[in-house]
Amino acid sequence: MHPLKNPWPVVHRPFRGEAFGSWLGRIAARYRIGVDELVAAAGINIELEREGRGWLLADVPWGEDLMRLAWACRLPTAEIEAMRPSPASGITQLCYCHHCLFLNPEDVTAPYWKRAWLYTPTAPCVLHPESIDWVSEADLRAHRNLRKLLEFISKRRSRRESERAWRSRPVLCASKVCGQD
Ligand SMILES: [Zn+2]
Repeated sequence: MHPLKNPWPVVHRPFRGEAFGSWLGRIAARYRIGVDELVAAAGINIELEREGRGWLLADVPWGEDLMRLAWACRLPTAEIEAMRPSPASGITQLCYCHHCLFLNPEDVTAPYWKRAWLYTPTAPCVLHPESIDWVSEADLRAHRNLRKLLEFISKRRSRRESERAWRSRPVLCASKVCGQD
């Protein structure tokens, strides 16, 4: 029996190439809860801490849990299966393209994490080499859904840009300031 009486009322459709954890993280953000709370409330067993790496790297469940998830989100199991990530690659930080993360051409209001970014320890985008950044496993574990993770990423980038602007500011020569030799 499903712990939920009804399917989730609002479920985002997965974007093409989206990571399974990203999709779950967007749904959890919609309800303003953690991914762990979302799946626990639905009685679905999903290994969110695969090798201690956080929900973004979660694997698609199997068997009855997959059926339960498909029921909760009213999607065909094949559509969920299509998001299944490859086995963990052992990398300890995830590289991503900041530009492509935040500018989703299919829906500018819905950033998402690409499956391809789960496996690359180096530059994941040839179009925007200046936008390459990374998050650690600790960053993933510290933010409970995709919106929280994206807020962290945005704030961190703004902070770095203001620090860079501060370091590159014009500095007055000390002798000119005091006007003496
Ligand atoms: Zn890019």
